[in-house]
Amino acid sequence: MTHPRIAFIGAGNMATSLIGGLIARAVPAERITASEPSAEQRERIAGEHGIAVFADNAAAVAGADIVVLAVKPQVMKEVCQALAPALPAGVLVVSIAAGIPCASLERWLGEQAIVRCMPNTPALLHEGASGLYANARTSAAQREQAEALLDAVGLVLWLDNEQQIDAVTAVSGSGPAYFFLLMEAMTAAGERLGLPAATASLLARQTAFGAARMALVSDFDPAELRRRVTSPNGTTEAAIKAFQAGGFEALVDQALHAAAHRSAELA
Ligand code: NAP
Repeated sequence: MTHPRIAFIGAGNMATSLIGGLIARAVPAERITASEPSAEQRERIAGEHGIAVFADNAAAVAGADIVVLAVKPQVMKEVCQALAPALPAGVLVVSIAAGIPCASLERWLGEQAIVRCMPNTPALLHEGASGLYANARTSAAQREQAEALLDAVGLVLWLDNEQQIDAVTAVSGSGPAYFFLLMEAMTAAGERLGLPAATASLLARQTAFGAARMALVSDFDPAELRRRVTSPNGTTEAAIKAFQAGGFEALVDQALHAAAHRSAELA
């Protein structure tokens, strides 16, 4: 099988996770290039993954089938405008930048096949979740290529319209932080209940991990799993009642709407 040639513009955290994921999936290092302003980082990535890493963005995209834009949103306009003349004909552009709509990328790059993607930080451990949206110029084969790229660092789901990226940002993009917040709160409560801090923290983190695994592998949905561990008049029921009395569901709804609203504002 011939793998597409993939060029990464910006070789920071997200790009290096994707590169690591692709290499782990047996994509040959010769099919991957990257560009990166820091000489130290260039050397490190080339040494670690055996790929060619350039200082010049145009050199990195020569002959590429897929160009992954993995720079921070603040520099995206400048990077795209400088890169546009060097893009190979028929290339697929995949942007992982938060808050940059396809319309802006099309304005800066010209009319290209573009897949916009919202990954999340567990992609660093190849346990990410990404929502993908393809513009009308993207062919079925290019959609498959984009899916294979992001699939190397976790779950991939396609979206029907670009506005749904704001909802994905609210659920999974910002989502890891909500679970961290819950772990922090559970750790603090465990300490107040008399546990050493390290014990409370480990119990909270392992419980989150175990619950997530159960929710992913079980035939039952989370609501059913919760019912199955909530005996009438038991300890779990006491806790769930306290959560609900405090308006937990409404609070989560409010928090996710705030994140989606902010995501739309940034675009
Ligand atoms: P990062 O680690 O800062 O990576 C960005 C890289 O781009 C850095 O290595 C930076 O080099 C390099 N760079 C800066 N200017 C450049 C230029 N003109 N040409 C080429 N490379 C340049 O950031 P990240 O966390 O990987 O995030 C990358 C993108 O992913 C962002 O747009 C972000 O919105 C998106 N994203 C990230 C996450 C996440 O969880 N991290 C989640 C969803 C989306 P220097 O450091 O030397 O400046």
